[in-house]
Amino acid sequence: MSTSTPKDFESRGLRKEFEQCHNCHIAKSDATKSRPVKLRECTGCHTATYCSRKCQRAHWKAHKPRCELHQKMVQTLESREERLRQRALPGPDGTYVPPRLQPRDILDEMTSWKKHFRPILFQAGFNALNIVNDPQKWISHVMLVTISRIDQAEDPRPWTRYRVNSAECVFIGDLPRRMGMGPPEMRSVVEQKCTMDEQNLRQGFKGTIAAILNITCPAVDPMIELNNVVYTAYDSSVAKGLKITDNWAQDFIDAVERMCERSQ
Ligand SMILES: [Zn+2]
Ligand SMILES: [Zn+2]
Repeated sequence: MSTSTPKDFESRGLRKEFEQCHNCHIAKSDATKSRPVKLRECTGCHTATYCSRKCQRAHWKAHKPRCELHQKMVQTLESREERLRQRALPGPDGTYVPPRLQPRDILDEMTSWKKHFRPILFQAGFNALNIVNDPQKWISHVMLVTISRIDQAEDPRPWTRYRVNSAECVFIGDLPRRMGMGPPEMRSVVEQKCTMDEQNLRQGFKGTIAAILNITCPAVDPMIELNNVVYTAYDSSVAKGLKITDNWAQDFIDAVERMCERSQ
């Protein structure tokens, strides 16, 4: 039985622990005077972060499929916007009125969302996959989180512009049905997950929690929908300080609301 005090997963300090180099896993919280930790984004996808060029190069082989998939998703969404723009009727002054929100804006907002909620996302995922009682479940299951953008949200803090609708544990084999994925899409998700899982095991981690974020913007017509996956590797020390509960999904939703300073 662990006697360690629970950690505050909503704190700024914890967020720094989860901001890591995707290759060597050094965290912002590991920074010292003599060894500052500055993380730079991959310029291809803006989602992977690295502490050095050396780490980025070392990680490229593992990261490449994910990076390319992400870029392809952005291109697909952007060309859809372009087609919509060309087809759109002119506004009152004869010029096209662009939609309020572009797919790239949503992805930028999601980068900030993931950074902000990564610790509580991990805590929810660890509970969702019931790792305490079923330590191998992360291999075949993921946490599926549905998130929607709040209509006309313009808070200067981008992470507050979304609401979590649901979170649940899903068997990988059920993802195509649950998310309307075709076989090629499904294959790339599974391949991506296997690559991340193997790499993390090689580096000595015990497992990897995959959280699939299904993001929708209901107020944008036609509705924009996109998916993002957040992987978090963990070692045996992580269970200390985690809150283990059956009520994890509601806890997660409540924590997001609290951190966005929205009162119920
Ligand atoms: Zn590194
Ligand atoms: Zn990248």
